[in-house]
Amino acid sequence: MNKEASNGRIPVGILGATGMVGQEFVSFLQDHPWFDLTWLGASDRSAGKHYHEATAWRLGGETPAYVRDIVVSESKPEGAPKLVFSAMDASVATEIEQAFAAAGHIIVSNSRNHRMDADVPLLVPEINADHLKLIAAQQKGRGWKGQIVTNPNCSTIVLVMALAALKKFGIKRVVVTTMQAISGAGYPGVPSMDINANVIPFIGGEEEKMQQETQKILGDFSGSAVELLPAKVSAHCNRVPVVDGHTITVSIEFGKKPSEAELLAAWRAFRGVPQEKALPSAPPCPVIYMHEKDRPQPRRDVERENGMAVFVGRLRHCPVLDWKFVALGHNTVRGAAGAAVLNAEIMKAKGYLDR
Ligand code: NAP
Repeated sequence: MNKEASNGRIPVGILGATGMVGQEFVSFLQDHPWFDLTWLGASDRSAGKHYHEATAWRLGGETPAYVRDIVVSESKPEGAPKLVFSAMDASVATEIEQAFAAAGHIIVSNSRNHRMDADVPLLVPEINADHLKLIAAQQKGRGWKGQIVTNPNCSTIVLVMALAALKKFGIKRVVVTTMQAISGAGYPGVPSMDINANVIPFIGGEEEKMQQETQKILGDFSGSAVELLPAKVSAHCNRVPVVDGHTITVSIEFGKKPSEAELLAAWRAFRGVPQEKALPSAPPCPVIYMHEKDRPQPRRDVERENGMAVFVGRLRHCPVLDWKFVALGHNTVRGAAGAAVLNAEIMKAKGYLDR
């Protein structure tokens, strides 16, 4: 049985609710001021069971009491609320998300499947809130009453948050190397014999995602489509024995040649629509520069600002390109559940949940 929405909040559901990211959604949505989690969907293996029976809870503490006894539903639109977050296995997300959108649901997805579709917003609300205007073309072109909006890959988000404020200096070339946490691989993820005291210099499909998603997110909405950022991005992606937090090192070449003071000022001033509208999950400062010579570090910094800010440090000259720096973000919060919830918040603030 589904739960009734309470306190006038908007009822919401989760597809893929039993998985790693699904659990992050359950945790992130607890006591949300606008959204009330009433519906949980997963595979046929879980459907019909109470959530606590269907889920091997991997986050801290017990399965939260507010969802424990919700009966998991099949991943079908019937009976689901209008607004549904998606954290489904990518092998099934395409068809199921499209079926929900066709049936009039608003899918705010964390899965990779629709991110690069030309008519689907790949949304980072601080950066490209205007890309939501793609939804009109999406509904018209596909004949959907509902819609699909996506958030980026968990390493891409760290890069684009760091780059967004620097776009005005004319980004020409970017070389980025990642040190990605094991939680980014879901559960059970990478075998312990592979990752303990080791580095794995390959994450399937990750480098292509970082290169392509960055160009779309930082691209300009032309009135009918997104024109990709004409910058070259080269990514090297590595898995490292860190639990949470993707660290990236970035070298960058600009068309204009900003000074160190101009770069620091750009990060300091960076704010977006979520901050202007004081959305519930918006970090007050989305990018925080750390002046200590050995920060940011995942173990010490990733949980700060509720995992929703990106931390930058070690800005210095690059002898090959122009400048280089390090950045850190929480892969399952700002890189997954928190990003999608912030997307839904800006959609509510801009009236997209009422259409
Ligand atoms: P996961 O732990 O393997 O969870 C997968 C979820 O999909 C489970 O709820 C599972 O339900 C459900 N599912 C599997 N087959 C299904 C089917 N046939 N019909 C309906 N539901 C089905 O994976 P995850 O790590 O949470 O990742 C979920 C998605 O988020 C993936 O697309 C991933 O690429 C993306 N993502 C993950 C991260 C991260 O940090 N982990 C970050 C960004 C994006 P059952 O329990 O019933 O099998």
